[in-house]
Formats: sequence, structure tokens, C-alpha cells
Amino acid sequence: MIEANQIEMIVKKILTEITLKNEATDSAYGIFDHMEEAIEAAWIAQKELVKYSLECRGKFIAAMRAAARKNIELFSKMAVEETGMGRYEHKVMKNTVAIEKTPGIEDLKPDAVSGDHGLTVFELSPYGVIGAITPTTNPTETVICNAIGMIAAGNAVVFAPHPRAKNTSRKAIEILNQAIIEAGGPANLITAIKEPTIESANIMMQHKKIKMLVATGGPDVVRTVLSSGKKAIGAGAGNPPAVVDETADIEKAAKDIIDGCSFDNNLPCVAEKEVIVVDSVADYLIFNMQKHNAYLLSDENLIKKLEKLVFNDKGHLNRDLVGKDADYILRKIGVDCDPSIRAIIVETDKNHDFVQEELMMPILPIVRVKDVNEAIELAVEVEHGYRHTAIIHSKNIDNLSKMAKEIQTTIFVKNGPSYAGIGVGGEGYSTFTIAGPTGEGLTTAKSFTRSRRCVLVDGFSIR
Ligand code: NAD
Repeated sequence: MIEANQIEMIVKKILTEITLKNEATDSAYGIFDHMEEAIEAAWIAQKELVKYSLECRGKFIAAMRAAARKNIELFSKMAVEETGMGRYEHKVMKNTVAIEKTPGIEDLKPDAVSGDHGLTVFELSPYGVIGAITPTTNPTETVICNAIGMIAAGNAVVFAPHPRAKNTSRKAIEILNQAIIEAGGPANLITAIKEPTIESANIMMQHKKIKMLVATGGPDVVRTVLSSGKKAIGAGAGNPPAVVDETADIEKAAKDIIDGCSFDNNLPCVAEKEVIVVDSVADYLIFNMQKHNAYLLSDENLIKKLEKLVFNDKGHLNRDLVGKDADYILRKIGVDCDPSIRAIIVETDKNHDFVQEELMMPILPIVRVKDVNEAIELAVEVEHGYRHTAIIHSKNIDNLSKMAKEIQTTIFVKNGPSYAGIGVGGEGYSTFTIAGPTGEGLTTAKSFTRSRRCVLVDGFSIR
């Protein structure tokens, strides 16, 4: 026989579910007109989330992964169409690792000490509502990866997507929210506004209910969150050098470098942005890169044309070329080539803008140096202290160790393409928020928590 209080509980549960479903429909699963509403809804949702067990939280994360998995093709297609950047097949790969390899609740490991004076537990607790700013270059990957990590850690998240990728990011937000609700969780754990702008991102950053900021993007946005006065994680720009010394497997190095630099048309912040090669193996490396569909641009006039196309008169990067196909860029300078061409390689001086600037397009400058010491020194210089990513191809342990020590990047890939550093190919989990400037490194759920010390005095020491 069902007791009166049990009936009351069942009715309450059904009513709550109906309300949540209605709320979710009205707000298009987390999408609001105004930033204030988006923050308030996320704040309420987070208060609900912490009432659920960890087991439930794990189920919500599993549901998010399952729903995103069903929509990988849609996400990838929308991203290419809306932003006009990148390659569909690589976006499928990036979304796949974001869904499958972003750590969930298992990342939240407690720590403990016990002794004569009792038991002290260190627990990882949520911040509350996190404000997350996302880039055009990974409009769904960052949303998926941040949402999984942040919610696994017990937070809700208000996204400020890049205005040029707003519909794609919104689609991911809606699908993830719907999945959480269908798995029995609260509505609006992930919110955003219909028309995101830099102004609305600033409102979000200053809002008192936003307890942590996470910025994934270029130097401006990282600087902005770091000066907000709030706890902030900054995942900024990179300019990853790839060093090749005379001991490397040159055929493999050539393939790995072209694979890495042409991945999603060089959009990833980890992608090879310049090659620094020891002179004695440079010709053979270039020869092998051409075998792997790199186009060697050696005509001086064409190189000048390319420089003028990539940088305008004021020296600013031509954003219209970011993430474009190599054959499209070549056609713009009058070179008709096959679409199978994946990258444009060009020998330059170390001071050339192609080397010094983060281009995010499949143009790969190559600089010759006399030996590995000069190569490492130059790699450190052109990485600009971003502490982001560097790559080396070498079989010499001393050279590998020397570069690891000197370059101090968050990701250091040895003998593989750059993307092995974010879990495509190499071992380890995946992330799309690589926090070099603030030091969290490859962020996971743990990065979005506060450490709390819980002390039981004179008890529970049972050794
Ligand atoms: P972007 O800096 O133009 O934009 C990133 C986000 O910041 C967008 O949502 C944008 O609207 C917002 N934004 C920019 N300036 C702002 C300001 N002053 N105030 C508030 N919001 C602001 O970058 P993008 O072109 O979208 O992405 C490419 C850049 O992001 C590259 O530099 C790349 O290296 C970097 N990136 C870094 C990581 C990482 O994990 N470290 C990952 C992806 C991309």
C-alpha cells in the first residue's frame, strides 16, 4: 500500500518534471534573450544539481555524451558552414575526442590524511556558475568539453560563444541541455543568449553570480578575464614550432608535420605553425612533405603575392583566409592546383611574419638552421613564451630532453603530429581548453573546482 507522503512525493516529482520540460521548451533548452536571465536560470539549475547524487551526475554526463555522439555530423557541418573555416572530416574527429575523451566525475579524486588527531579530507567542490567564453575555431568542441568538465564538477555554465559561430554553439548547448533533462536532471545547467556579443560577454564577466571565468580564445579575451578580479582560467593563443633534427625519421616527420599543420586547415591552437629544420636534412624533409600533398612555393613573385594576401597594408592578418583550404589560398595568388593539396610550404627567414604570427591557415613557413641547438633556441623565441605547444622530431634523447626543458610549453609532442597532444592519436584524455597562461594546463573537471578541507577532530583514525 502506498503511503500518503509517498503519493505526495510522486506528484511533486511529476509536477517538477512538467515544469522543467515547459521551462526548457520556453527557453529553447537554455537559450535566453538577456544575459541576466541566462545567468539567473543557470544559478537556479546549479542549486538543483548539487542536490542530486554523484551517481546521477554521472548519468547526466553519460546522457550528454550520447546525445552529442548522435549529432557529430550535424555539429561538424554547421561549424564549417557558419564559420566558413576548417574541414568537415577533421571537425568530426575533434568532436569525437571531445565527446569520448573529456574526463567526467571520475576526475574528482578526494585526498585524505589521518592520525592521532583525527581525519582530514580534501574535497573538490564546485564554484557555482561559471562563465565560459568560446572560440570560432572549435565552436562545438569547446562547448562539449567545457560543459562535461564543468557539470561533472557540480557547476552550471553560462556560455558566451563567438558571435561568428553563435548558431553552431547554440545547437550544441540545446542538445546537451535536452539530454540532461531527459536523463532526469535540471533544466538550464548550460545557458547562453540568442545574440551573443562582446558587450554581453562583458556583462557576464562582471555579474556577481558568476564565480569563475574560463576564456578560450586569443590574447584579448584572456587579458580581459584575467583583469576581471574573479577567479579566471585563460586558455590563449599559441604559435607551435616543429623542430626537426638530423637524427629524425625524416619521411615520417614530413608526414606527421603535414598531417598536423593541415588538420582542420591549421585552426587548432596546437597545430604546427612553423618548421625549424637542421640544414643537412632540410632538402629531404621538403621533398617528403611534397610527397604528402604539400605545395612548395618557391617563386619569389608568388611568395610576395602571398604575403600581400595574408597581411594587409597595415600588417593585419586577413581574417578571410583563416581556416581556408590550401588550394583556395593558392588560387587567390593565381596558382591553379589540385584540391588534394593540403598545405603550402615556403622557405623563409626566421623574422618573417609567417613565422612570427599565428596564421591559423595551412601555410607553413620553413626555417633552416645549422644545428639542433640553434633550432631549439629559435623554437623558444618564436613560441613567444605562450607556454602552449611545441613539437620535435628526433631520435636523440639528449635533444628531446633539452628542448623539453627549454621550451616549457604545456604540450610537448615528440615524434608525432601536434594533435597527438590533445588525444587524437597519442595517449591521454582530451581537452579543448589548454590553459598555458594561468597554468591549469589541459583542463579537466578538477580545474573547475575549489579545494575544501574538511576536518574531523580526534576521530576516525582507525589504523
Ligand atoms: P577570439 O579571441 O577572436 O575570440 C574568442 C572568444 O573571445 C569569442 O567568443 C569572442 O567573442 C571573445 N572575445 C574576443 N575579444 C573579447 C573581449 N575583448 N572581451 C570579451 N570577449 C572577447 O579567438 P577566435 O578567433 O575565436 O579563436 C582563435 C584563437 O583562440 C587563437 O588565438 C587560438 O590559438 C586560440 N585558442 C586557444 C585555445 C586554447 O585552448 N588555448 C583553444 C582554441 C583556440
